[in-house]
Amino acid sequence: AKPPVGVLGLGLMGTALAAAFLKAGHPTTVWNRTPSKTGPLTAQGAIPAETPADAITAGPLTLVCLTTYDDVTELLRPHSTDLTGRTLVNVTNGTPVEARKLASWAEEHGIAYVDGGIMAVPQMIATPAAYILYSGDERAYGKHHSTLAALGGTRWTGTDPGLAALYDLSLLTGMYGMVAGVAQAYALIRSEGIPAGELAPLLKDWLTVMANGLVPGTAHAVDTGRHLTDVSSLAVSRAAFPGLLHTFADQGIRTELLEPMRELLDRAVAEGYADDGLSRLVELLAS
Ligand code: NDP
Repeated sequence: AKPPVGVLGLGLMGTALAAAFLKAGHPTTVWNRTPSKTGPLTAQGAIPAETPADAITAGPLTLVCLTTYDDVTELLRPHSTDLTGRTLVNVTNGTPVEARKLASWAEEHGIAYVDGGIMAVPQMIATPAAYILYSGDERAYGKHHSTLAALGGTRWTGTDPGLAALYDLSLLTGMYGMVAGVAQAYALIRSEGIPAGELAPLLKDWLTVMANGLVPGTAHAVDTGRHLTDVSSLAVSRAAFPGLLHTFADQGIRTELLEPMRELLDRAVAEGYADDGLSRLVELLAS
């Protein structure tokens, strides 16, 4: 028989996670602040808990998925003794600092703490496309790995509990950069009455090709400290950028997402990095 689990927090994500445990055959006890949200899960075989303590003490592992770390702290503070000797897996989205703080609280109370960063939307949970980043108590992670694998892929990032959040936020940051670029590109094409769908296949292929070169290439340059380029220098980008901004002005499109890039390119050249590649920008952000 599969080990029992408790799930606290049945929002969109918590519900998907609990359903995945159930589907994998784990007896799953669920609790939510608004009790009506347990309904769909009990229909799938989950055991509804009247109190958080009932869900926590139902098994060796409690998974918590609330809106913020403040919510998690508020919910769990009165339950430290229920959690003692058990494993707490927190997949609520937060910062490395928040994760480390919660981990210290857990350690004070003899709770094995594993932090998780979910790289998926609820619909992707338990599919091959989903994975969760983990960090913290490595022994507890190893012990419960097969249970956690019911949720999707697993990626261990290290014993510092803040690492899952650090990786998670780094990946999200990359995504938001892409969101900004896609928004700007569609605004531009639509300014001439061309549907975004006309550009979509070209943009997707372009971003894919660019990412294939840029992502590993930038990492290599940054990690070796060698930023000289034979592809495209910062001087070239800097010279081209005002033209890009003028185009948007001509088409009546706002440029607040792009202005910071121009400032950074100007600074790069002013500080003497005209011949370097775009990877130099990583170093400039650190200063
Ligand atoms: P929802 O808004 O759907 O659910 C939030 C949940 O938190 C609800 O169960 C809510 O209870 C509960 N909650 C909030 N505050 C408290 C509190 N003070 N005490 C007790 N329970 C509380 O959000 P999601 O499920 O989508 O997201 C949950 C977490 O997962 C977030 O940190 C989010 O960033 C993360 N995540 C979500 C993804 C997504 O695509 N949805 C993707 C990756 C991560 P109630 O029902 O009573 O309001």
